[in-house]
Amino acid sequence: MTAPERHRTASAAATEALAAALAGELEPGAVVLVSGELGAGKTTFVRGAARALGVSEPVTSPTFTIGQRYCGDLPVSHLDLYRLAGGIGAEEPGLLDDYLTDDAVAFVEWPEVAGDELEAVTMRVTISHAGGDEREITIERERR
Ligand code: ADP
Ligand code: MG
Repeated sequence: MTAPERHRTASAAATEALAAALAGELEPGAVVLVSGELGAGKTTFVRGAARALGVSEPVTSPTFTIGQRYCGDLPVSHLDLYRLAGGIGAEEPGLLDDYLTDDAVAFVEWPEVAGDELEAVTMRVTISHAGGDEREITIERERR
């Protein structure tokens, strides 16, 4: 991964705009890991990026499933592994395969849960609270 690039946003809209700008770098097959505590703005980030990738349906946290696949200019997958917090068990190999496909751009919230299942990572996004509506957003990219 490249050295972390640090950003600061002061609103949800600013986080969406940053994500939209970064989405321009993403090609089919890209996997973007989005980390940060509950309420940090992970889903907000994914929403901004998904919009920029042509997704017009609402982008919300998948609640009853681990993921969602949207139709944009290309398929956009959105995984939220929070519910699997015990770790992806050996009894569920390939659980993520339907989402991490070569034709899609995939965003993964709570990627820590997946462990080794996520080996090829294009971008790592880390969001942390920085007081009020301020967020620090760190971007690391795959070296290539
Ligand atoms: P997560 O997916 O990390 O749990 P969400 O994106 O669902 O977080 O929620 C983040 C909340 O914080 C939203 O209510 C959003 O409007 C609010 N918020 C306030 N300031 C920011 C900011 N700078 N960036 C992102 N979200 C923000
Ligand atoms: Mg979320």
